[in-house]
Amino acid sequence: MKPNTDHNEALFERAKRFIPGGVNSPVRAFKAVGGTPRFVQRAQGAHFWDANGQRYIDYIGSWGPMILGHGHPAVLQAVQKALLEGFSFGAPTEREVELAEAIIHLVPSIEMLRLVSSGTEAGMSAIRLARGATGRSKFIKFEGCYHGHADALLVKAGSGLATFGNPTSAGVPPEVVRDTLVLEYNNVKQLEEAFALHGRELACLIIEPIAGNMNFVRASVPFMQRCRELCSQHGALLIFDEVMTGCRVALGSAQSVYAQSIPGFAPDMTVLGKVIGGGMPLAAFGGSRAVMEQLAPLGPVYQAGTLSGNPVATACGLATLQEITRPGFFEDLSRKTRALVDGLTGAARDAGVAFSADSEGGMFGFFLLDALPQNYTQVMKSDGARFNRLFHGLLERGVYLAPALYEAGFVSAAHSAQDIAETVGAAREVFQTLQK
Ligand code: PLP
Repeated sequence: MKPNTDHNEALFERAKRFIPGGVNSPVRAFKAVGGTPRFVQRAQGAHFWDANGQRYIDYIGSWGPMILGHGHPAVLQAVQKALLEGFSFGAPTEREVELAEAIIHLVPSIEMLRLVSSGTEAGMSAIRLARGATGRSKFIKFEGCYHGHADALLVKAGSGLATFGNPTSAGVPPEVVRDTLVLEYNNVKQLEEAFALHGRELACLIIEPIAGNMNFVRASVPFMQRCRELCSQHGALLIFDEVMTGCRVALGSAQSVYAQSIPGFAPDMTVLGKVIGGGMPLAAFGGSRAVMEQLAPLGPVYQAGTLSGNPVATACGLATLQEITRPGFFEDLSRKTRALVDGLTGAARDAGVAFSADSEGGMFGFFLLDALPQNYTQVMKSDGARFNRLFHGLLERGVYLAPALYEAGFVSAAHSAQDIAETVGAAREVFQTLQK
């Protein structure tokens, strides 16, 4: 029931006066789904409460970082202790070293890494480093993958393989994306053609191994294998953007999942964010020693940051990594996420609603389609209007999903069997209202 005074609406009106669109990141504005964004007052465990005091089961978890849920006691304690010791020094700390060691232990393809404050910074710096290390300018990205909002990465596919992409944002000059080649995800033929045409000029290929910015689309094993082979053959670096999947789909991140099917598989560089910061502004990029040593102050590739390796953020990240490394953590999280996905699938089937879903570790996605899509064009065949009805139906019932059909969902360790049963129960009701 809507309260007499809707505090979310009032806050949104106030926010819009001074913040463009009322939000500090566009998808929060509910533009895709319509309606008023919920202004969060507080969060605990798997739940948050909005400005009206309404409780929601949170399947966004700050878009991925909150793998332990909100306010985990061990994380809170670590952050409180770090805060008292000082917010920021602009000089190195032991915790930065500890966090680098912890990440490298979990993701052994990384021999050295640098900490930064956002996934955007990490992705942008990884591309610069790959270009600097190879002395080449061009790179490949895939349609539907998001790697942050650095200019050269805000690109949609051009009209053919011989041409490069077009900017997706005003303010990005065409010259800046001239060297960005955008290909279709999971399309081996296009990939081979692109390497045949441009292989010697390519610095790197950057990919979301499980594309969470297309909701949830896995790169197929043969496609990934071909990416690896072609990069190696042509001296281009394979960069895994694991900002979303890192320490989220498995302790060893998505690359450990591919290594199960492709013996010896490893990317050359990895970009991380979200979970490694546990909800604080922290991200990283890393790779082989030889490549990372090209970075300033050792090498000629410049990169820097006032708040990089921030002492409070590193404390939060370290405490989070400590918790997720406990025996059985990922087994439990995966089981829970799978139970949610299976529950939703069963409820949709009973209602005769076309539905397909997938999950890995604590990340999931679903589509109002009969079969899981393989690329961006197929994802966009989803019926946006029906998704919006599902989204709002669930929202009214206290379940908060990402407010856009091309975004993944996240389950945390704090989600209980009760939360999942409530979610599936709510979905069952809403599916009944969706037409076939
Ligand atoms: N890369 C991927 C795969 C992401 O999902 C995101 C953000 O969602 C980014 C990069 C950018 O990270 P940030 O928002 O921290 O700049």
